[in-house]
Amino acid sequence: MIDRVLENALNGEELSKDDFLTLFKLEKHEDLLKLCETATEIRNSRAKHIKLTSTIHITNVCKINPKCKYCGFAAQTSKDGYCQPFFKRDEEILQAAKVVEKSGIPRISCSGAHGYNGKQAVKAAQIVKENTSLELLVNVGADLNDESMEVLNKYGTNTVCCNLETTNEKLFNHLKPGEKLRDRVKICSMVGSHNMELSSGILVGVGESYEDIVDHMFTLKKFAGLGEVPIMGFNPYKDTPMENHPPCSLERQMKTIAIARLMFRDLRVTVPTPTIGPENIKFSLNAGADNLATVIPEDYPLKVRGVGSPDYGNLKEVVSTIRKMGLKPQLNLGINMENS
Ligand code: SF4
Repeated sequence: MIDRVLENALNGEELSKDDFLTLFKLEKHEDLLKLCETATEIRNSRAKHIKLTSTIHITNVCKINPKCKYCGFAAQTSKDGYCQPFFKRDEEILQAAKVVEKSGIPRISCSGAHGYNGKQAVKAAQIVKENTSLELLVNVGADLNDESMEVLNKYGTNTVCCNLETTNEKLFNHLKPGEKLRDRVKICSMVGSHNMELSSGILVGVGESYEDIVDHMFTLKKFAGLGEVPIMGFNPYKDTPMENHPPCSLERQMKTIAIARLMFRDLRVTVPTPTIGPENIKFSLNAGADNLATVIPEDYPLKVRGVGSPDYGNLKEVVSTIRKMGLKPQLNLGINMENS
């Protein structure tokens, strides 16, 4: 049964919800290996490089209340997170973007907390796009409107990210009591109509079933402009309401990454280094991911606390891991890296 489903996936045939569920439910180690091999074969047939994406956190002052139960990013949510409130000044955003560009990383994410109607995202987009050649993803969740999207597009923003986290509405309301799933769905629907690429991710290991993940993936498929699907394994942040919730297992993350690759063959499947753990990025690549996010160069001038956990991937180590696996990191030519 599994062999047939994987063969069909390799041949580019459309898989059904039942096929995807069969893959999620596989338990034998050898079957997980077959799934990952199929996913990497599909990834390697379309992607020449592994994309790298760095990050700038614009502000952690979030006006959503109550806060999302897993959040360690917003001010005062976790002593392992940023904890203290901050708004990055324009010069700080510019300096960080310049350092990332110089490092050879081709892409940056500017993300921030909720409550500004996208104004903070627009400012960051202007700074990055007017002063660097970086590809730009902006992520301020549902904190956007038509006007801010229009200006983001005007500045040349490539991608807007709005993670649904889970499409199980009951679970969403439990995890994110200060937000509505429909607001995030609305933003996801708007991005394509503003001629920008949509990135929308799945939070794994927060109490969702395999059926929920499959339904979530089929929901994502319907959004025009979908170009990227981040897979984020849950890690508990200290002091948050979910500090005692178990972290997402590596196996569940690998299955989700590999199945996302089978479903979204030609799209970017992204794994943020903080959510899988910088030491585990080889597993995400073995499962078919083609973009590693929150990759930070040595001389990055700002303090970073990963959104899903305080850790993050260091550029040199990430590049070294990618190369040891016989893959090629996408680094902009002409950039001097000591280990390149
Ligand atoms: S996860 Fe985002 S929206 Fe939710 S509380 Fe944290 S910063 Fe605010």
